[in-house]
Amino acid sequence: MPIETNLEEIRQQLPAEVKLVAVSKYHPMEAVLEAYQAGQRVFGENRPQELAAKAVQLPQDIEWHFLGHLQTNKLKMVLPYASLVQSIDTQHLLEAVDNWGEINDKVINVLLELHIGAEDTKQGFVEEEILDLMFTVANSIRPDGSQGRYSHIRFCGLMGMASHTDDEETIRADFARISDFLAYLQDLFPEMKDFRQLSIGMSSDWHLALDYGATIVRIGTAIFGERQYK
Ligand SMILES: *Cc1c(COP(=O)(O)O)cnc(C)c1O
Repeated sequence: MPIETNLEEIRQQLPAEVKLVAVSKYHPMEAVLEAYQAGQRVFGENRPQELAAKAVQLPQDIEWHFLGHLQTNKLKMVLPYASLVQSIDTQHLLEAVDNWGEINDKVINVLLELHIGAEDTKQGFVEEEILDLMFTVANSIRPDGSQGRYSHIRFCGLMGMASHTDDEETIRADFARISDFLAYLQDLFPEMKDFRQLSIGMSSDWHLALDYGATIVRIGTAIFGERQYK
């Protein structure tokens, strides 16, 4: 099916307040342009070089999200272009991004990636690590509202990937866990006012993610078709 038709079908089912990120990784510029011409403005990539190349060459009003594992030596390919880095998965990376922001006089919007799926290889923080981090940040907030720690990071919420399975109950349990955790953090840290995004749901499970308060869904295959891994 053409990209435009796929997009339209998804948009019809997606509540207006949920942001659709069209995940264009491994797809050519032409595919992004096709979606762009169908009105899509938010795209997601998971390889730094590919993001930088597309961001430079494609229309400048595109909002790029970075979704992949990010190495600290690749920041300059990602941070100038990404409106949101969804995949912060270590404190080391967070420190490096904050540093880059300070040097480049920019505040970087991030989501913290929570490891929710069953897979051993999947990246992300565990709950305790995020809790520690949030305590540190919240405790550093000054009377004027500015952050003393990670002053060049805006903490916008959580991202997670459900287990790779057909079992709906397992997927629902994963989504419930991250959704409950976000609510818990918001309760505990009301001073973290930007911490409200929940990025869950991909091509195969985004319908389910809506039941758990997804504010961002990340859909690739259902828009662009299968990826050609070169
Ligand atoms: C590739 C990717 C997606 C999109 O996956 P599809 O199954 O093609 O929709 C979503 N989120 C992340 C983090 C990804 O890496």
